[in-house]
Amino acid sequence: MNAIELHAKASADYARKLSETQNALQQASTQYTNRIAQASSLGAEDVVISHLINTLQLDIGIFVLETGRLHVQTLTLLEQFKAASRTPVTVYTPVQESVIAFVQREGMDAMYKSIPLRKECCAIRKLEPLARALDGKDAWITGLRREQSGNRAEVPLIDTSEPRTKINPLADWTWGDVWHYIQQNGVAYNPLHDQFFPSIGCEPCTRAISLGEDFRAGRWWWEDEAAKECGLHVKHAPAASTLSTISPLPTTKTTV
Ligand code: SF4
Repeated sequence: MNAIELHAKASADYARKLSETQNALQQASTQYTNRIAQASSLGAEDVVISHLINTLQLDIGIFVLETGRLHVQTLTLLEQFKAASRTPVTVYTPVQESVIAFVQREGMDAMYKSIPLRKECCAIRKLEPLARALDGKDAWITGLRREQSGNRAEVPLIDTSEPRTKINPLADWTWGDVWHYIQQNGVAYNPLHDQFFPSIGCEPCTRAISLGEDFRAGRWWWEDEAAKECGLHVKHAPAASTLSTISPLPTTKTTV
């Protein structure tokens, strides 16, 4: 069975969720013209969001962090995605001098030696390129969902707790909703999802999961649950705002 056959199952209120997601993306595009981008890992959630951005013809750029340690399946999908996307796709790579110096000092698989070294690798390969990708942006779009892990259980649709607004248009989508959208719209996805990789990152730091394991159990599986973020979504302020506590974006009706 492939991932669609295994997971596609829409929630009872899927139509409402989809409409809210479309509205949030349209409103964000209007509010943050040219100052917003989608961060895509090319995982299932992100290909759904990119498909919506393309379908709704929004002026939202998409960027991918090519860490130099991605699976060949992800790199293949990246090329297909770049060729098919209406909206520009920008690929950010790490500073090669930093990568070379780190690998020479600590080896190719330093991430397994200690959490500080794993975080240093993430800082070089992900966080520094992310900072460049977000330079000049007032908002960014991610595929975070509350269901993904305990650390993400409170993810709001729109997070204004950091200076740069983070929009999580799939915050309340289930895994079944994500795959239902992929099925309904024929969205190209990473074939690793068919091999029980629900969450896909760099090759050395991602493994398949078994039945009953947590959604993100395959990411940095040798570390404690609390440490399992690469820094992209680590909060620097105490609390996230929710929709009820921020100025709402202007309401716009959309159709697809
Ligand atoms: S996920 Fe692993 S390989 Fe990728 S940047 Fe972080 S430590 Fe390095």
